[in-house]
Amino acid sequence: MATVRGIRQVFLDIDGVLMLGELPIPGGTTTVNKLKSLDISVLYVTNTTRKPRRKIHEQLVKLGFHLEEDDIICPAIIAREKIMQMKRPSAALFVNDGVMEDFEGLRIQRRDVGAVVMGDLGDKFSPEILDEIFRLTFSGSSLIALQKNRFWRDQGGLRLDLGPYVAAIEYATGRRADIVGKPSPGFFRGLLERAQAHAASSLMVGDDIEADIHGAQRLGIRTVLVKTGKYDFDFVSRTEITPNAVIPSVADLPKALGIEA
Ligand SMILES: [Mg+2]
Repeated sequence: MATVRGIRQVFLDIDGVLMLGELPIPGGTTTVNKLKSLDISVLYVTNTTRKPRRKIHEQLVKLGFHLEEDDIICPAIIAREKIMQMKRPSAALFVNDGVMEDFEGLRIQRRDVGAVVMGDLGDKFSPEILDEIFRLTFSGSSLIALQKNRFWRDQGGLRLDLGPYVAAIEYATGRRADIVGKPSPGFFRGLLERAQAHAASSLMVGDDIEADIHGAQRLGIRTVLVKTGKYDFDFVSRTEITPNAVIPSVADLPKALGIEA
């Protein structure tokens, strides 16, 4: 990828590309400013299901980014938009308290709902909760999952993520969940719609070879993998997924795009 020609919008993953935990990864704001000076629009992308968009916006502003809250795309927001377009725009929410506010404006109830939303409930997943989700889905509500990750790691080691619980409901009901987070095609389609952009003129920059790179590639979006965040050489090699470019960090993006020598 030697030239910026043809790229009209860049989608930047947040965690692992622009920040690590609460800390900035150097070069993020400079890169964004350079892109914008060339009239390339920027949207910010995250798969987080524990923080509301307002909070992510506050964090980025604190780090020196100039953006609107609407410029951030996350699974809860995509789920909310999907539900708003339903005939019965109502939902039963089984999500982390942290993202509740992203569903504002929806009719939230526990019976006769258009959609059941499964999110990151962590320790709150109990047999009773799973039965409730099962019954609602079985009786005809759409099943929306904010993500379908298999597992994650905290200080105590590996833990079950949301995916196995979603799989349990799918198995019991014989129905498929609509996964709205990365790497689902729906997420990237939503992104292109929001940017009013074509895949061919878009670029996804991420640290996750599967969620960011493979997800975007399947829609024909060009990709750059950064070696910060969760990047792991051995894991990337095993996937046999090939991004258009691999760069040390977001600071190197202008150079990779041919914006600077
Ligand atoms: Mg990331």
